[in-house]
Amino acid sequence: MSDHPTGHDARIVPWQQAGKDFIWMPYCQMQTAPLPTPVVATEGVRLILADGRRLIDGMASWWSACHGYNHPLIRAAVEDQLAWMPHVMFGGIQHEPALRLASRLAHLLPGDLNRVFFSDSGSVAVEIAMKMAVQFWRNQGTSTRNRFVSFHNAYHGDTTGAMSLCDPVRSMHAHFKGALLEQYCREIPDTADRRREFDQFLEEHRDELAGVFIEPLVQGAGGMRFHAPDVVAFLRESCRRHNVLLIADELATGFGRTGSMFAVEQADVVPDIICLGKALTGGTMGMAATIATDRVFDAFLSDDPSFALMHGPTFMANPLACAAANASLDLFDTEPRLEQAQAMEGRLAAALEPCRQMPHVVDVRCKGAVGVVQVDELFQLDRLRSRFVERGVWVRPFGDVIYLTPSLSMEADDLAMLCETLVSVVDEWSRWDGG
Ligand SMILES: *Cc1c(COP(=O)(O)O)cnc(C)c1O
Repeated sequence: MSDHPTGHDARIVPWQQAGKDFIWMPYCQMQTAPLPTPVVATEGVRLILADGRRLIDGMASWWSACHGYNHPLIRAAVEDQLAWMPHVMFGGIQHEPALRLASRLAHLLPGDLNRVFFSDSGSVAVEIAMKMAVQFWRNQGTSTRNRFVSFHNAYHGDTTGAMSLCDPVRSMHAHFKGALLEQYCREIPDTADRRREFDQFLEEHRDELAGVFIEPLVQGAGGMRFHAPDVVAFLRESCRRHNVLLIADELATGFGRTGSMFAVEQADVVPDIICLGKALTGGTMGMAATIATDRVFDAFLSDDPSFALMHGPTFMANPLACAAANASLDLFDTEPRLEQAQAMEGRLAAALEPCRQMPHVVDVRCKGAVGVVQVDELFQLDRLRSRFVERGVWVRPFGDVIYLTPSLSMEADDLAMLCETLVSVVDEWSRWDGG
């Protein structure tokens, strides 16, 4: 097998050859990037490549395929819905799959997070949370509360509003200077000093703040940093004290990823607004939701039409996506997903531990079904990525982390193979030139 199995036109699949000059890939320098990996099918926890190779998927397609791929129950639900009604607008129309899903989410979520607003992607769910928070204050006569607080290493999405909440240094703020809303970015309050500072900050700025955004317990694409549940509990208290909305972005952590259905449960916290997506449909279709407490929802009730929430995506509450999400929730009812996620934490921690001793590795940490190897610098990134493919796994490092977010349902032997391969490839990589 060549060093760069994806880099040579001689081996390129016909459809990839025919389309490669017309496609634009995400976060990709199109001039220099190696050809992406051609995938033709999925099965269980595996990606099947055009040449027949089968990769164990360590990513679950960006945290989303929580039950593995092609689950027969989700497939049957979507096929059935496809025959009845693939899509219908949600303005002035309701349908059973959406109302059932809304009621199930409200019952699953802690406290009085009871009002579900559907959308089609996580970034949009975050945008909606921002608008909801700003309008919450406006409907009560306060038009100065327009800004948000987020945290270092935060990631809240790629649209411009969501981007303004991302860590300004680690994300794309520099590229978009002048084009973004200005927010406040603070340190995660994980020490007594930082808590005092944060609390003081809220006190001083509360009149201009609509809300505080946090990815509870595990920060995702902004750097895969973890914090303890008491940080989230502190944020809840501080926001309550200063009457600022607390918004939990559980796009990545929701649906069992950290070992509980929602990460906020481990802090015994009810945020004012929560954003869900990614694994909502078991990773089969684009869908997200922004869910508000009764207090937030009630601020939109009025005989004045302009108090209504001003949002409504074309494909919101898509019936196919709702059917997939309902089937996915059935699987959480009938299969031991949370136990599997909890068991995975110990397995990942034990299996990845050998990385800690390797050159360039600065930390190894695991939470639920998330395993992270943090390094000082991710040199020779393309070569590292293609080495994983050559060794039969799908792992896609970024920033300063090599990480795993497998399907919660991944069997112990596949997980062991995935981790052994990761450890072995990181060991090779740590001795390459460039470090
Ligand atoms: C993925 C993610 C988003 C954005 O969701 P998209 O569906 O990619 O738009 C926002 N916040 C967090 C924490 C995420 O992990």
